[in-house]
Order: sequence, then structure tokens, then C-alpha cells
Amino acid sequence: MAERQLAILRYRNQTPSLATCERCHIKFFTPSELLARPAEAGDHLREKFASHTCKLNSVAFYVRRKATHCSSGETSFASFGPFGTHEEARAKQREDEAACGKSEYKYDYRIVGYLEGKEIETAG
Ligand SMILES: [Zn+2]
Repeated sequence: MAERQLAILRYRNQTPSLATCERCHIKFFTPSELLARPAEAGDHLREKFASHTCKLNSVAFYVRRKATHCSSGETSFASFGPFGTHEEARAKQREDEAACGKSEYKYDYRIVGYLEGKEIETAG
């Protein structure tokens, strides 16, 4: 995991306008009234960074299920979650597989993880 460290992502002229924490990828923005004041903008971003708490536990896992009807080939989708860990999502998948075992649909599963709205991990 990356260090907790401030990284400036974007400058507007000489002014840092967007920064991030390299550890949790939270974004910090420079308010528009500071865009013409580079030193204050830098202070503002460093302050925001110093006072933030890394949100590393906000990963949410979802089980996506695609159902294909065996004779018609029609598909439909379902989504379960959020789950706090990949294991919990996997357990839900197993439970669902067991419950659906005798139906006339073929199920495909995908586990997707999201961190602050961004897809971060996919597995079987
Ligand atoms: Zn952080």
C-alpha cells in the first residue's frame, strides 16, 4: 500500500488546484477564491490533507449475477450487496448458487469491488 502522502495532481497556472492522498486516493480541491493565490492554495491543500482520515474501509463488494434461460437464451441481471469483504460476497454467491441449482437458468457470477465509486477488483 502506498504511503500516506500528499500528491499534487493538477496546477492552474502556478496554483495547485487538485491534490490527492496517495494512500486512500481521496481528492482535495482548491476553492476558486484561492486559485490566484498559489501559496495559500498550497497551505489549504496541505491542511485538508493533514486533517483527513484515510478511508480504506469503504470498499464495497457486490455480487453480479447474470442469468441465462436454458431454452430461450434470455438473460437478466441481478446484483447483491454491498458486502464489506470479498469473502462475504463470495459466501453470498455460494448461497445463491445453491439456491438456484435446480432452476432452468444458467448463472454466471462476478464479484466487483468499489472504492469510492471506482471499480477496484474483479474476481470469479
Ligand atoms: Zn488518505
